[in-house]
Amino acid sequence: MDTDVAVIGGGPVGLTLANLLGRRGASVLVLEKQPEPYPMPRAIHFDGEVMRVFQAAGVAQAVLPHTHVGKGMLFQNGAGETLVDWSRAQEIGPMGWYESYRFFQPGLEAALRDALVDYPNVRLVTGAEVIRLSQSGDAVTLTLGSGTQHRARFAIGADGTGSVTRQALGIALEDLGFQERWLVVDLRLTRPRDDLGDYSIQFCDPEAPGTYVRGVGNWRRWELRLSDGDPDPMPEEMIWQRLRRWITPRDAVLERGAIYTFRSRIAEHWEQGRILLAGDAAHQMPPFMGQGMCAGIRDAANLWWKLLAVLRGADQALLGTYGPERAANVRAFIEKSVALGRLINQTAAGLIPQGQMRSIWPDLGPGLGPRDGIGGSLAPQVLTPNGKADDAAGHRFYALGAGAAAGTLPKFDGAEDWLAEHACKGAIIRPDGYALGPASDPELVTLAEQLNQHLA
Ligand SMILES: Cc1cc2nc3c(=O)[nH]c(=O)nc-3n(C[C@H](O)[C@H](O)[C@H](O)COP(=O)(O)OP(=O)(O)OC[C@H]3O[C@@H](n4cnc5c(N)ncnc54)[C@H](O)[C@@H]3O)c2cc1C
Repeated sequence: MDTDVAVIGGGPVGLTLANLLGRRGASVLVLEKQPEPYPMPRAIHFDGEVMRVFQAAGVAQAVLPHTHVGKGMLFQNGAGETLVDWSRAQEIGPMGWYESYRFFQPGLEAALRDALVDYPNVRLVTGAEVIRLSQSGDAVTLTLGSGTQHRARFAIGADGTGSVTRQALGIALEDLGFQERWLVVDLRLTRPRDDLGDYSIQFCDPEAPGTYVRGVGNWRRWELRLSDGDPDPMPEEMIWQRLRRWITPRDAVLERGAIYTFRSRIAEHWEQGRILLAGDAAHQMPPFMGQGMCAGIRDAANLWWKLLAVLRGADQALLGTYGPERAANVRAFIEKSVALGRLINQTAAGLIPQGQMRSIWPDLGPGLGPRDGIGGSLAPQVLTPNGKADDAAGHRFYALGAGAAAGTLPKFDGAEDWLAEHACKGAIIRPDGYALGPASDPELVTLAEQLNQHLA
């Protein structure tokens, strides 16, 4: 067999998965159709859970220079009054990282690509478009546009919205009902505009709904909802015209004005035999929470250790838990993003209670372990005498809090509030930071110990 895992698509999700697997010795082939990286940002925000995944991928320090800590988001009405305040803490939060980061996507992708160079077991091939996939009992065969074929034990379709992988598998997308055209404008300030502020602003103005985002360095973004008659592409003068209440060419250069159709969709299933979907190939959401890429990075976090365990002898049925676990979690983000979109459009004012808004941390759907208690909820990452808990545990299963039956699992104290919230004295934490279940359950402890052997 040529390769353990072929990753179709070298976007942020494919590259993160390749790092997570490559770091643990799996052989990985990333096939990316574009010859060169895309030089403009799309995503601009990620959260502390995603930084925790970058930590697991060994790239957090390389990613940090391309970020700055996010202050949060304000939803304002046409009169400039704040309807909803979604401020984020300015100190390290429960994930062991800040709650919110703004980032420069080309910088993040360069960091992810550069890190792969350290792994002789990982190969990134650019200018390689996958046009066909087939699978037999023990392998997936991928055919490139050039006619070259590659074989791998598993293939992950991280090939974005128009996923060839998803189409080849005949997997339909469930439409969750949101579809709007928006203009996305990226500018670089040529002189200081401190008055624009560090918060993202959602302009909940039925006349002109829009978003302002403070990017990293001197990057600034506006996203404006379009009407049916607006031209695509939009001429530069027209873009400046739409931005004139905030900024003019005296203060910034226009780097990009692109029109996107924001949608809310989720794949009806995420796996077929040895081929699985991840990232935008499996789900899409409007960017009002800045969570589309985050959801894809969570897919990678859920998948790497399951793939590794199966490659090293665990039952392949483990991979069947991936889609159902992730689908429920991502659905919660899609629904919230759509609800926020409606608020911004003011088509359903009152849908979200006015006042303070908090980040959501949805549970995993049904999958590995029980779901009638702490199982499936996202655990905080505590600080241990040997550093952050996930690192100290070697990114394998560990016990948090008191655990009568925690067996040979590494054990750490802390997270009392989270444990008390779930009426639990101790929990087993999976390599992706979610709880497997209570540490007092001997069967779960045995399961975690067995999986740890595959992850050693
Ligand atoms: C305007 C806008 C703002 C956004 N803001 C945010 C934000 O702030 N935060 C956030 O979390 N998300 C945000 N998102 C969403 C985010 O950009 C996507 O969710 C994310 O890029 C998905 O990553 P991915 O790796 O799954 O797919 P992609 O980034 O689409 O990467 C897929 C890769 O696969 C390659 N590919 C495709 N087909 C093939 C093939 N057949 N063979 C080989 N390679 C192939 C492509 O060239 C591409 O490089 C935003 C999106 C938009 C449009």
